[in-house]
Amino acid sequence: MASDDNVDLPVRRDWLERLPKVELHLHLEGAIPHAALWELICKYGGDPRVPDLDSLRGNFVYRDFPEFIDKWLWKQGFLREAADFESIGAAIAADLARQRIVYAEAFYSPWDARGFGLSTREMSLALRRGLSSVAEVEVALIADLVRDQGPVGAGITLEEVAQVAGEAGVIGIGIGGSEQLFPPEPFAAVYARARELGLRTTAHAGEVAGPESVWGAIRALRADRIDHGLRAVEDPALVTYLAERRLPVTACPGSNLATGAAASLESHPIRRFLDAGLLVSVSTDDPAMFGLSLAGELASLQSRLGFTDGDVRTLLLNAVESCWLPEERRSDLRARLVGDPAWTE
Ligand SMILES: [Zn+2]
Repeated sequence: MASDDNVDLPVRRDWLERLPKVELHLHLEGAIPHAALWELICKYGGDPRVPDLDSLRGNFVYRDFPEFIDKWLWKQGFLREAADFESIGAAIAADLARQRIVYAEAFYSPWDARGFGLSTREMSLALRRGLSSVAEVEVALIADLVRDQGPVGAGITLEEVAQVAGEAGVIGIGIGGSEQLFPPEPFAAVYARARELGLRTTAHAGEVAGPESVWGAIRALRADRIDHGLRAVEDPALVTYLAERRLPVTACPGSNLATGAAASLESHPIRRFLDAGLLVSVSTDDPAMFGLSLAGELASLQSRLGFTDGDVRTLLLNAVESCWLPEERRSDLRARLVGDPAWTE
């Protein structure tokens, strides 16, 4: 995992903290501040895996991607009622505001709560109430249709999401989950239907599965954005394609280190992607499960991979260009970033 213990080059960490930032690849259920998750664990009778708040951090370490999915599902067991989603929404939004993240497009997973009898509608609206209680940050929602439920289940979830999308501020869909077991192609009809419903589309691809999964997301799903995409680097023709089309890629280097998807930060392709002209931005994916923050990720890129202050600004402006706000609002967001006193410090 990326850590400040490995700092090589000097970094203005306080500047990175102060910069207004945009994050596009963030799973709300993976971003629950530990204190808020601990409250829910206590509410539901505690758990022998984590006897106290401090042990939560130690529990969130992973040998590989399947173990990460296992711990993700364990945590989901403490999200059962609408009130739980409202409280985590408020806690996450407060945490984003504290980090000076001013705009985020964040995933949530309606499918995961079904076991507790919570409807997609209740869950979506509860999250929206929590997120909108913090004025300093705007969070648009992306429904993660979670590939593990298969295309039929994803299609059902999509229809439920569409019915509440306007009220809950859901602007798009994606597929996360076990990429190595569920390739993109069977979800083509679900993605076509999402477009018909006026939703934008993104897909996790090239994280655990190879470049063929990125091609699948492009050709079969016609995704507007690629999440992770790191293994695209194995196919030079794909890198060229992504660069020429300016198809956005949301890179999450710290997450990739934590799950073993990347062997080291030095071997992560984010530097090569930026140099090749890809519209790449940086995100934390599941920051509370990986011990990450967006400023910390930018600091690692600077200290370990030699990203300059200019590169940091480029990554943030790439996030603005990659986001799904209407054109006029995207211009406003760009102006907010570059007009901030910290921008030119
Ligand atoms: Zn993700």
